[in-house]
Amino acid sequence: MDELKLTLLGTGSPRPDLERSGPSQVISLGDTHILVDCGEGTTAQLMKAGIAPQSIQYLFMTHIHSDHIFGYGQFLLGGWGLGRRKLTVIGPKGMKHFHETLINLFKEDIDYRTSLGRPGNGVRDVEIIEVEEAGLVRTDLPLKITAAEMVHNVKTFGFRFETDDQTVVISGDTAPTPNIIELSRNADILVMDACLAPTAVYRNTKSAELQEIWNSLQKEHCSPEQAGEIAQKAGVKTLVMTHFLPNIDEDETYNEAVNVFDGEVIVGEDLLVIEPKASAIESV
Ligand SMILES: [Zn+2]
Ligand SMILES: [Zn+2]
Repeated sequence: MDELKLTLLGTGSPRPDLERSGPSQVISLGDTHILVDCGEGTTAQLMKAGIAPQSIQYLFMTHIHSDHIFGYGQFLLGGWGLGRRKLTVIGPKGMKHFHETLINLFKEDIDYRTSLGRPGNGVRDVEIIEVEEAGLVRTDLPLKITAAEMVHNVKTFGFRFETDDQTVVISGDTAPTPNIIELSRNADILVMDACLAPTAVYRNTKSAELQEIWNSLQKEHCSPEQAGEIAQKAGVKTLVMTHFLPNIDEDETYNEAVNVFDGEVIVGEDLLVIEPKASAIESV
C-alpha cells in the first residue's frame, strides 16, 4: 500500500510575498498527485518540488478566491502544453463558470496551439465537478474523500483524504467551526488556515484602514492558537499551519499553537514535504 505524502507548494496569502507562493499543496499517493488549490506560482512550485505539472489529473479547489486560483490559467494551459491529456477539477459552485470563462478568454490561443498539432484533450475536455454540499466526493481516485463546509465569506469546502490507515485534511480558509474539528477527527495531518498569525503588516498599526481589515479578518480565518485548539479537539497527530501574511513571527506562531496542542506543530513553509507515519520532514 502506498503511503500518503503532503507537499506544501505555497503557504502565502493574497499579499504578494517573495518568501511564500500563493496557497497550494499536493497530496501524493505513490505516483498519483492531487493538487489542492492553485494560487499564484503553483506550476513553478510543482516543478521545484519535482512533481511534473502534467502528471496532475485532479485538482480540488477549496473556494474561488483570487489567492487560491490565480495560478489556474498557467496550470491549465501550461500543464496541457507539457503533455497533460486528462484533468478533473472539483470545487464549489462557480468553478465551472470560472473555468469556462478562462477557456473562452484563451479560445484563440488554444485554437492556435491545437492547429500546430497538439491534441485538445486535457484542456478542452476538462471535467468539472461542482460540490453542492458536504459529504462524500466521488472520484476514480483510490481514496475516500469527504467535503465539509467551512466558515468563510464565500462557499468554502475543507477536504479529507484517506486511505485505509492514513488521513490528510486540508481546511481551506475558515474561521473556527465545529465542522473542521469533525472533518479532521484523528487525522494524521491537518493543514490549517492560520492567517491570523502575528505579522508586522498589522501589528501595532496606526492605520485605521489596516486596523479595520484586521478586525474583519477575525471572522474569516483562524489564529495559530485557534488552529491549535482545533487540532487538539480533533485529536490530530500533526498540525501544519499555512496561509500566512508576509513577515509573520514564526516563533510566536509556533508557540501559540504548541501551548494548546499536544501533537506535533509545523509552521508551514513552501516546498516542505511531510509524511504521516514518522512525521518525517524534509525539504526539497
Ligand atoms: Zn479565502
Ligand atoms: Zn485565502
